[in-house]
Parts: sequence; C-alpha cells; structure tokens
Amino acid sequence: MKAAPVAGRSIANQMRILLVEDDSDLQRQLKKALGEAGYVVDTASDGEEGHFLGDTEPYDAVVLDLGLPKMDGVTVLEKWRKAGRIMPVLILTARDRWSNKVTGFDAGADDYLAKPFYTEELLARLRALLRRAAGLASPDIEIGPLRIDTRTSRVTVSGNPIKLTSAEYRLLAYFAHHKGQVLSRTDLTEHMYDQDFDRDSNTIEVFVGRLRKKLGIEVIHTVRGLGYRLDAPDAAGEAAK
Ligand code: CA
Repeated sequence: MKAAPVAGRSIANQMRILLVEDDSDLQRQLKKALGEAGYVVDTASDGEEGHFLGDTEPYDAVVLDLGLPKMDGVTVLEKWRKAGRIMPVLILTARDRWSNKVTGFDAGADDYLAKPFYTEELLARLRALLRRAAGLASPDIEIGPLRIDTRTSRVTVSGNPIKLTSAEYRLLAYFAHHKGQVLSRTDLTEHMYDQDFDRDSNTIEVFVGRLRKKLGIEVIHTVRGLGYRLDAPDAAGEAAK
C-alpha cells in the first residue's frame, strides 16, 4: 500500500504511526480511524515492506499484525529491536492465540490486541503507549559528549552534528543500547549479518574504525581479547589501550 503523503510528514508535533497489516479492508479501516484521530499514518501490506519502513523512518509507534506475507510480524519486530529501534509496538494477533502473544512480547512488543477488536480500543491503547513512551526517559542517549536522539537518528558530539551512514548509525545505536557492556565481534557480526551487510568489505573492525573517526572521541573502547564496549571517554578503565 502507498505511504501517507509526504507533506503530512513535516507537520510539527504530529505523531507518525506505521501500520503493518495485510488485510486490505482492515488496513483501510484502521488507517482512516488513525487519520481521523490526528495521526500521520504510513502503511505496509507485508512484513518486508513494514520492516524496511520501520527500520528507516522515525515512527512514534507501530501497529504490527503478526500474520504477514513475506516476513512474519515476530521476525520484523525482532529485527527492529536487534537494530536498536525502540519505538513502541502494538501487535495484532489472531483471535486469542496465546502462544503468538507470548512470542510477540518476547520479541519486544509493548502491547497487543487480539482480533477482532474495536477500533476505539486500538486508539485507546495507542494513546496509552505514546503517553508511556513520552513519560519515559527522553529518547536521547547521552554518553559523555555523545548524544544520540533515537527518535530522529540524529547524532551529535558536543552539540556538533555527526553525519553517519545508516549502517554506521545502526551499529552505534546497537552499542548505545548495550552501553557499558562488552560486545564480542561475534555479537556484532551476527547483528551485521542481520542487516544484510556485505560481510567481506564491511568487517566489524572497519565499521568501528569509521565510527571512531567520525565521532572523534574515545567512546568505543577496545576490550582486549573480548571485543568492544561503548562508554564515556573517561570510563575506559581496564579497557584503556
Ligand atoms: Ca494478517
């Protein structure tokens, strides 16, 4: 299905919702209801398209059906979470499939609705999710002078914007969501493969090197024999060179 008109995206403070639903009648009905409720809505009709949009565009929340063609909803959600995408996700499950629900929560869902449901209930749960997300610590992650706005994918060091490729951003976001933890090359490599990186020309060392150079500060510490750790420049501790 088509995405929402581009003009709608620039409206300040308007919440953007991604709706991933392959049932075209339900998708149309929900899109209309969400639009009337004041949200800007992008839609996807299969898992691959939904995954791509959620991975590349900043959404305030996602409504994700689990039974989808091309890539199922649980896989979509797992991939987003692995890539450090933290927007609230409400999953839609087939009528009271308990196992689906559990799998969905394990994959990182924030709430669920079993079909069939009332549109009003979806809207109410979405409002609650958005309120909760807004009440949480700000979407900014700060590590020393490094600041990552996970909503907009903007990265600054001491207030100066840093231009990263989407692959570099994803690696940085992955580090940031595991701040202070040692990530082995295997962890990172698995994460990279998930993102369909070219495994030969884009080794972890190359990406880390590029990130370090662009950031210009010592926040990605090498932990000898173990891997890397993202932490404030003065928290190098035993990891120092
Ligand atoms: Ca479905």
